[in-house]
Amino acid sequence: MQSVEELLEECGRAHGHICAGQLLGVRMSLLGCRLIGIDDPRGADRKRLIVWVEIDRCMADAVGAVTGVRLGKRSLKFFDYGKVAATFLNSSTDEAVRIVALEESRELADERYPSIKDKRERQLRAYREALDEELFKIERVRVEYGEMDAPGRPRSRVICARCVEGINDGREVLCKGGVVLCRPCALGGYYERL
Ligand SMILES: [Zn+2]
Ligand SMILES: [Zn+2]
Repeated sequence: MQSVEELLEECGRAHGHICAGQLLGVRMSLLGCRLIGIDDPRGADRKRLIVWVEIDRCMADAVGAVTGVRLGKRSLKFFDYGKVAATFLNSSTDEAVRIVALEESRELADERYPSIKDKRERQLRAYREALDEELFKIERVRVEYGEMDAPGRPRSRVICARCVEGINDGREVLCKGGVVLCRPCALGGYYERL
């Protein structure tokens, strides 16, 4: 794979600026891929890598740019936990690793480079030079990932009995009396009809 510097440049172009979050995302992606035996995520291994990101901030864009995973290809999954964390799965071996930015990593920049006045520069320098173990918690995990979550054509399609909207890939809820509802109708959603 390319170097951290090259990847960071590339991410900066895609994301609009180079920032500490991009750098964390680059390092997280390189580490995650390495630990599950993915050498060429955007090329030869592109059909084997699935990534879950847990935040919708800078880091998530970098993970997408470095690994090539995309929401629209179902290779990128988003769970809104508000954490600077991501899980990398090799779908051919089922190996998965979850990587979380350590709280302590936030202080590294101030501790190591107090002489650098600009906060962004300080962070970029510290995140570039720190060891993986200083930046991240790394854990082997098993993820819930089945046929209905996989890339490729939709596996099923049903219609919600209440809102009459179509639902793909088994995301419906089977309610009492065999009634099929979409999640927002059954459980409440993020919007309310006016
Ligand atoms: Zn950013
Ligand atoms: Zn519905």
